[in-house]
Amino acid sequence: MTIEVEHGDASDPVESVPVEWLTDAEMTPEVQRLDRLMSRAQARKANVVAAAHRRGVPQAEGFGSTTAWLIAVTGEPPAVCRSRVRVALALQHMPQTTQAFACGDVSEPRVRLLVEAREAAPAVFARDERLLVSQACSLSARVFPKAVAHWRRLADPDGARADAAKAFQGRRLCVSATWGGMVRLDGDLDPESGSVVMTAIGSLAEPWALDRGDSRSPAQRRADALVEICRRHLDSSDRPRQGGERPHLLLTLSPAELAGDGLVDLDTGSITAETARRLTCDCNLTPIALDSQGDPVAVGRRTRVVPPALRRALEARDGGCTHPGCDVPARWCDAHHIQHWARGGKTEMANLKLLCRRHHGWEHDQAPCPKRE
Ligand SMILES: [Zn+2]
Ligand SMILES: [Zn+2]
Repeated sequence: MTIEVEHGDASDPVESVPVEWLTDAEMTPEVQRLDRLMSRAQARKANVVAAAHRRGVPQAEGFGSTTAWLIAVTGEPPAVCRSRVRVALALQHMPQTTQAFACGDVSEPRVRLLVEAREAAPAVFARDERLLVSQACSLSARVFPKAVAHWRRLADPDGARADAAKAFQGRRLCVSATWGGMVRLDGDLDPESGSVVMTAIGSLAEPWALDRGDSRSPAQRRADALVEICRRHLDSSDRPRQGGERPHLLLTLSPAELAGDGLVDLDTGSITAETARRLTCDCNLTPIALDSQGDPVAVGRRTRVVPPALRRALEARDGGCTHPGCDVPARWCDAHHIQHWARGGKTEMANLKLLCRRHHGWEHDQAPCPKRE
């Protein structure tokens, strides 16, 4: 076995030449060379592990299993070692794969995919191994897993159906408030449900095309998109929609808190008074009188901050979000008080404008409602 070294120290295949000596044009081939070298080293390691397993070396050295031995030898996590042993043993029955791995033509993650494919249908794999290995050598990282999945569906239809059913059974979503004052989402979806969610989030996660000021990261834009989808759902539930009814967030706070600059507590964490002002720019208001213990003694009539007639006039005047370049239609917009009512602003046309949720938030962040002198 020879190792190609273009220049430098031929005795050290990894650091053949100091990185500073590489020209820009040599960077790409150098990464490719090291990648092949790594695959070859991993292939050799798998070969040694399989031989040690066959000869009982782990047991002779006092280990209960080959995996336990490999964990002790390499210091790598148990799951990684378990997978490596599984691959090493399977490769003994996969001659074409072993050869391509040893030449550095196929990387370890691809070998793992091939091992899983063989486990699904060993006899069909033996027949198709040459074809699958040639695909592993030539297809892109995006296409190769799809090709293997396609092969698996053909080679083992029952197994593929069972896999799909298992994936669907495994769907889950956890939403919980954390101690750190955030809300954490975590879940797994089957492919079909997942693509529905990804498409919906993707449709609302574009950067603000006409605002050069969109500094949100892609992850932040996805988070905003998910929240917007949920808000729109709540807005379009059975209740009367006209006038932007928002039945989904209950905020109980005193007029002093709303006019102030502190924090307001929600069940899921705290928000700033400015955010509370944004939420209450356009909301239903229910006056509650409390006794000296803080218990409610009287609950007044619920009224809209922006009455329906005024809302309709506003929709007719503004047509939609008034932020320059924004085209979100009026039905998804909030009525924003330029001077918030809690700080003495009047609920009248001259003090109101329609803003979509995104620009409503932006407005409150960029130009927080001034305190009345
Ligand atoms: Zn507002
Ligand atoms: Zn807008």
